[in-house]
Amino acid sequence: MNRYTGRFAPSPTGPLHFGSLIAAVGSYLQARSQQGLWLLRMEDLDPPREIPGAADDIVETLEIYGFQWDSEIIYQSTRASHYEAALDQLRHRNHVYPCTCSRKMLQTRAKRNDHGLIYPGLCRDKQHDTRLEHALRVRSDAADITFTDQLQGRYSQQLATEVGDFIVKRRDGMFSYQLAVVVDDAEQNVTEVVRGADLLDNTPRQIYLQRRLGLPTPGYLHLPIAVNVQDQKLSKQTLAQPIPRHYPQQQLRQALSFLGQNPPLELLEYNLDEFWKWAITNWNMNKIPGNLTIRIQ
Ligand code: GLU
Ligand code: ZN
Repeated sequence: MNRYTGRFAPSPTGPLHFGSLIAAVGSYLQARSQQGLWLLRMEDLDPPREIPGAADDIVETLEIYGFQWDSEIIYQSTRASHYEAALDQLRHRNHVYPCTCSRKMLQTRAKRNDHGLIYPGLCRDKQHDTRLEHALRVRSDAADITFTDQLQGRYSQQLATEVGDFIVKRRDGMFSYQLAVVVDDAEQNVTEVVRGADLLDNTPRQIYLQRRLGLPTPGYLHLPIAVNVQDQKLSKQTLAQPIPRHYPQQQLRQALSFLGQNPPLELLEYNLDEFWKWAITNWNMNKIPGNLTIRIQ
């Protein structure tokens, strides 16, 4: 019944770069080495941050690289009714409340830590007129949320003090990543989430929402992320280069090497089928370095 199901969930904010390739390769091999399913989900929830054509570009690049996904690609932009249904469930149980605080105001009034601004609960007990423009926040609580990451080990966070009540629907009407990812991972029966360690500290929020919505919690495996010499994550903002479409073996071999798999040089001469066969057969998650970041330049 519970067949291993993994997924790759890129946001179409630009073409794939080496950093996103690592998450794709790690989640793919973790699934395929266990005869599991691997799904592709486009997290196109935030049009202002997206680049026209990036979603198609990502899909084509993945195809050229020889990734094969099961089922159809899910596009989050088409799933508003599912997210609304989850919000209704939260509303009925009084787990969410409207918040009219502006980001600007919070920047002066809220404390911040490594995870971002800690919402100080200003609107928690107010009776806002819901016709005013507002965000929806979920009430956090003081219980520690603890989980064991397959690679990073035990991780614990107290939402009330470390994050505060967090947004599930934004003022501009967009659903938050936290809400969408939880609804979709459950709907797609994902059994293990493999992604970059930059999202490790988001996981307790997601587990909290799963509990509030009565959804199962998948396993988690947070891979080290690639950073540049300034220790910045490779991203569009740090001008990470798109991965080239010709000769995928080279980038793929580098990704395997980043993930500690000691790929032999001969792989560069394999065709893509043979390459993936080697990668799947020899995948060993115990060899992945358990760091949060690895410098690649
Ligand atoms: N869409 C997110 C990103 O590109 C990843 C979400 C996830 O894997 O949970 O960073
Ligand atoms: Zn507020």
